[in-house]
Amino acid sequence: MSHEVPFFNYSALFKEKETELMALIHDVLSRGAYILQQDLVDFEANLSKFLDVKHAIGVADGTNALKLSLWAAGINPGDHVIVPGHTYVASAASIHYVGAHPIFVECGADHMIDESVIEAAITPKTSAIMPVQLNGRTSNMEAICQIAEKHGLKIIEDSAQALGSKFKGQSAGSFGSAGTFSFYPAKLLGCFGDGGAVITNDDEVAKKVRLLRDHGRNEEGDVVDWGTNCRLDNLQAAVLDFKLKEFPQDIERRRQIAQMYQDGLSAIDQLVLPPAPDQGDHFDVYQNYEIEAGRRDELQQKLRDKGIGTIVQFGGKPVHKYPLGFKNTILTKTEELYTRMLLLPMHTALSDQDVNYVIEQIEGFYKS
Ligand SMILES: *Cc1c(COP(=O)(O)O)cnc(C)c1O
Repeated sequence: MSHEVPFFNYSALFKEKETELMALIHDVLSRGAYILQQDLVDFEANLSKFLDVKHAIGVADGTNALKLSLWAAGINPGDHVIVPGHTYVASAASIHYVGAHPIFVECGADHMIDESVIEAAITPKTSAIMPVQLNGRTSNMEAICQIAEKHGLKIIEDSAQALGSKFKGQSAGSFGSAGTFSFYPAKLLGCFGDGGAVITNDDEVAKKVRLLRDHGRNEEGDVVDWGTNCRLDNLQAAVLDFKLKEFPQDIERRRQIAQMYQDGLSAIDQLVLPPAPDQGDHFDVYQNYEIEAGRRDELQQKLRDKGIGTIVQFGGKPVHKYPLGFKNTILTKTEELYTRMLLLPMHTALSDQDVNYVIEQIEGFYKS
């Protein structure tokens, strides 16, 4: 019988903790604690402690976390916001929905925004940079913060894929006006549906996001501004708070798997691997393991035949290639990357045998 290594494994992850999770859900439901309750307060406190930031605010999902962050940071209609082309459509859509315009730039060798091209993209209308902390890695935030300071720009970090990732010891999401996370089920810390958070060290931004997520109501329940409904469910917060306790071990396991891929695949000339776990200023948490592969489509087919699930991220198109009005945008490097990139299985339900099986099948493909 052939070995099956699915790209992600929701039911295995649930089964590992089924008893505890069902008890926790039963407890929340028994208390009738659904909206803006204590489990959410606890989760926000524990998340801000884990990331060493002043404020963490639970919101409905990662996309709305971005929208609320942009609003709260004062990004206005007509503004330009610089964002890498190699990202999820949600990064750009959030900019669009506050009335601003995404300006796409290239990514560098590590697939993060290429900081050396940011300055050339700045116009008199530019008000912010949105670095995307992709695949569990944090961009070179020292360089990006310097550019932002020099030109008086805000930074909103899309760190949906980078909970717990660091640059020079500082958490992804904590460098600028605000940073955002997604708790989509397949993200590093996933809940049982949609969920997200905004983090910030800025008291004013925090206050604004709290108003925005709950109909403009303050702590006394009085409406003091326009807002919307964008709350993180208390039940999801309880699940997330439970999972957060074991999250450091999850990160360790992801980094171990990345090291196994690194050791097993680095001799293959036709592959470019992501940075290894122990590299310098970056602490990577490997939301994804995104390789570049020669004969990528053939490799993906061969792995599929062998029971191994892989994904070409974002449907195989950078954002400017969707029919959304960016016909004149050309990002040669990013477009080339999209012909070669591939995500290998990366999650905490993988066994060492699973990882070794993936490595063997890739080796076999390039030997044939
Ligand atoms: C997942 C993701 C989002 C959006 O998060 P949702 O919770 O699905 O709305 C935004 N940006 C990036 C880079 C993501 O990977």
